[in-house]
Amino acid sequence: MPQLSSLESALKHYFGYDSFRPGQRYIVEQALQNRDLLVVMPTGGGKSLCFQLPALLKKGLTVVVSPLIALMQDQVEALQDNGIGATFINSSLSAYQVRTREQAILSGKVKLLYIAPERLLSEKFLPFLDLVCHQMGISAFAIDEAHCVSEWGHDFRPEYRQLQKLRHRFSGVPTIALTATATERVRQDIIQQLGLVEPSIHIASFNRQNLFYEVQPKQKQSYQQLLQLIRQQSGAGIIYCLSRRRVDEIAFKLKNDGIAALPYHAGLSDRDRTANQTSFIRDDVQVMVATIAFGMGINKPDVRFVIHYDLPRNLESYYQESGRAGRDGEPARCTLFLNYGDIKTIEYLIAQKPDPQEQRIAKQQLRQVIDYAEGIDCRRTIQLSYFGERFSGKCDNCDNCCHPKPMQDWTMEAMKFLSCVARCKERFGMTYIIDVLRGAKNQKILQNGHQNLSTYGIGKDRSIDDWRMLGRSLLHQGLLAQTTDGYSVLKLNALSWEVMRRQRSVLIAVSAAPTRISDEDTRAAAEVELLFQRLRKLRKQLADEQGVPPYVIFADSTLRLMATQQPKSLAAFSRLSGVGSHKLARYGAQFLAEIQAYCEEV
Ligand code: ADP
Ligand code: ZN
Repeated sequence: MPQLSSLESALKHYFGYDSFRPGQRYIVEQALQNRDLLVVMPTGGGKSLCFQLPALLKKGLTVVVSPLIALMQDQVEALQDNGIGATFINSSLSAYQVRTREQAILSGKVKLLYIAPERLLSEKFLPFLDLVCHQMGISAFAIDEAHCVSEWGHDFRPEYRQLQKLRHRFSGVPTIALTATATERVRQDIIQQLGLVEPSIHIASFNRQNLFYEVQPKQKQSYQQLLQLIRQQSGAGIIYCLSRRRVDEIAFKLKNDGIAALPYHAGLSDRDRTANQTSFIRDDVQVMVATIAFGMGINKPDVRFVIHYDLPRNLESYYQESGRAGRDGEPARCTLFLNYGDIKTIEYLIAQKPDPQEQRIAKQQLRQVIDYAEGIDCRRTIQLSYFGERFSGKCDNCDNCCHPKPMQDWTMEAMKFLSCVARCKERFGMTYIIDVLRGAKNQKILQNGHQNLSTYGIGKDRSIDDWRMLGRSLLHQGLLAQTTDGYSVLKLNALSWEVMRRQRSVLIAVSAAPTRISDEDTRAAAEVELLFQRLRKLRKQLADEQGVPPYVIFADSTLRLMATQQPKSLAAFSRLSGVGSHKLARYGAQFLAEIQAYCEEV
């Protein structure tokens, strides 16, 4: 076993990283001591390294159990591109290919073997594994997506239950179980079902520090709002919509507006889905517009933004879906569009559920999503408290922390609004009240003679959105009520009257104006960005030549370091995080040349 102080140099040598992510070092040490391990880390936490580095440092073969063929292929490609002996065996291979790979394993060229559980436990494969164990030794079993073993998890796979057999057949070989889903119940199940012996348990925080969380009220021109948001981003992004129809519509519009986008939903053929997914992974298109069917099995680390165009079903799904951004640890942006019309649609759908218990749960979950979206507290604090994790607030990386909404006194406006509700005899919904306030000349108002009310037109100075914001805030603060019969008629309550009698003032949170950045900063950032884009192009070209996804060549973070530091020599290049010995030799000269060419031009 190598000295602990050399772990960092091994990390740099094989993977090019300068330092361990939180928890990784400790886990690697435990693995090197042949402890059984349970590793719970959120997506993007860096679980793979926890068994990959020990696999390289220990004698023998590490067998990695993985449920999805696509994931296996991804990981093996990434390892091979680091010059590491890794391979997979699954149903996509011919008998001949399987034999060749088995030979490679027996000749000691392979340190990591990825395999699906049913193949691993087959009567044909186990004797081969006996042979491996006898000839070169098995250094560990790594069970990825270990929650699949539990009926209580969200992705139960009965084959995973059989993995216990390995314990008896290969006693003494340590097991490392890894997962991102973390209820206590599932955790206990994993330990029991896999027969872990006095495992060292490591549970990382579910705080994804690199993700910027924000909520934007969905404007009337919501597509324009979306388009503008996408145009501000560079890099890949996912847009989640609730319905297939919406997915098709948005993807189509984006294409017309010059954004490379593709749809993904269950209504497409398998072939189209796979093709679209591959285009996205390879950076042939920038944007994937998808229903939540997309994302489960994909492992693209450089997704830079995730936009929820429609409300998510519950906070847990929101965490998982938005969490597909920034797995590489680089900054990424998660935006949720909040639309009150959407809430009504979802409420309607909930009301159609036959089971009252289901209805109750769905309502509660919707309420939690709305509270998150409307909350003025740190978004992280709200999310993490949902997972039972305490967070001290003030993360400096969410809209509420970065631009705390100032509270403004809107008592006068509230009085106008509430008296208009009173004048209209508490018989109308919000849209109508706002129309009267703003002096609209629509048929319904004229029919009711409401153009003669004293409150008609007294709110022309404020926009419809302003009045809506006030109306919602009054509802949430309990200063106004609403019927629940599906018509949402506004009703006054005791507190409303206090406001109208000037016995109570009304404070509401309003959006702050955006902050300004200096011209000089903008210019410097633009130059780095230009070089970054050129390096991305080079990376894409090299990736296409090899038929691998671009991130396999270099991560975004490494390209960004190249763009900011602009190394002039191979030695300087090799010091960048993400450049290991293998990548230095393979790509160093080409990237250096590109950087040099750029520097000479500007
Ligand atoms: P998980 O399986 O937990 O979702 P991965 O193992 O796929 O996460 O790692 C996520 C990303 O983080 C990958 O792109 C990986 O290369 C990168 N990564 C892992 N460990 C480190 C590290 N110590 N330094 C820098 N990047 C890392
Ligand atoms: Zn915050």
